[in-house]
Amino acid sequence: MPDTHALLGPSGAKRWMSCTPSARLEESFQEESTDYAAEGTMAHKLAEQILRYNNGEISKKALTGRINKLKADPLYNQEMQDYIEDYANRVWEVINETKASCPDALILFEQQLDFSEYVPEGYGTGDVVIVADDMVNVIDLKYGKGVGVSAEDNPQLRLYGLGAYLEHSMLYDIRRVRMTIIQPRLENISTEEMAAEELLDWAETEVKPKAALAYAGEGEFQVGDHCRFCRARKTCRAKANYNLELAKYEFADPPLLSEEEIGEVLRKADELAHWVKDITEYALAEALKGQKFDGWKLVEGTSRRKYADQDKAEAALTAAGYALEVIRKPTELIGLTDMTKLLGKKKFEELLAGLVIKPEGKPTLVPESDKRPELNTADAAKADFETEIDE
Ligand code: SF4
Repeated sequence: MPDTHALLGPSGAKRWMSCTPSARLEESFQEESTDYAAEGTMAHKLAEQILRYNNGEISKKALTGRINKLKADPLYNQEMQDYIEDYANRVWEVINETKASCPDALILFEQQLDFSEYVPEGYGTGDVVIVADDMVNVIDLKYGKGVGVSAEDNPQLRLYGLGAYLEHSMLYDIRRVRMTIIQPRLENISTEEMAAEELLDWAETEVKPKAALAYAGEGEFQVGDHCRFCRARKTCRAKANYNLELAKYEFADPPLLSEEEIGEVLRKADELAHWVKDITEYALAEALKGQKFDGWKLVEGTSRRKYADQDKAEAALTAAGYALEVIRKPTELIGLTDMTKLLGKKKFEELLAGLVIKPEGKPTLVPESDKRPELNTADAAKADFETEIDE
């Protein structure tokens, strides 16, 4: 299960290790509950039941009963069931491989992992922990599909690995720790393996001192990618100073901007746009609670007219002689995302695989670090030219 409540929980480790004062600063902000987080929690519950059934811990009847309960939640859908079954199959492949060489491997689900020896009050939950011979393997389900998450150099995963090592190293001679992320919606599987000694050294030299600072609310503020997940990001002064510094641009003398300068402005604009969005959302939420901001006021936004009662409007129009096909919009299929949720991934592919196309996307400027291949602008211009002639 996501372990978001601990002050120094693994899910925030990248942030509190990079910016140690953020942990205490976040305390004055409420936990942000998003649909994505709720969906992730639901996916984890479903995964746990399927895995426990596969492991012979619960009966088919109990599995059906528990899944039926989950189905009552509006966040459940067939697509989620399919993805989580995929995930469970992958976990099972790992378990089978492990059992082939170590038949009495220990398999645990949703195990509480304690690493408070290194992080004050530090604990988390391992989705799957497999202990076999000289290795402990921790598997973490990520249900999100926004970005692929790597297990390499990932503090969250390493803390799970550390907790699993500490839990089982008394009884087993564990020499290696393997940490795996499975992200079924992106078909992403990422693994990092470390010698137990190396992991302990990381915990001692990197984690312990930073966790002590973070717990005390001390250290230097450090702005970076990790700010995206910080509850203080909207009003954090360090971030505001950093962003305002970004906005100050020293333009060189020539009257026209150079290509390098335009590239730099685009990069800064992207970061500033995210910050402006955060601040705007924050200010609106506070204004709705009665807070005033200098020079700003709350007003009613523009709205569009709509029928007060569709059925009565339709009755009035048909009574006046207007035919239904004239006054109604043509019915159309629901969107692909909703259709996938309705049918599930397998059925969707079975029925519609050849009937869905993906038109070419409009050219978009993105940072060079983006994984998509660069468009050949000469080809794109030629295609545009040919389309214009065809028309
Ligand atoms: S927004 Fe960034 S700099 Fe500010 S406290 Fe959070 S992590 Fe640190």
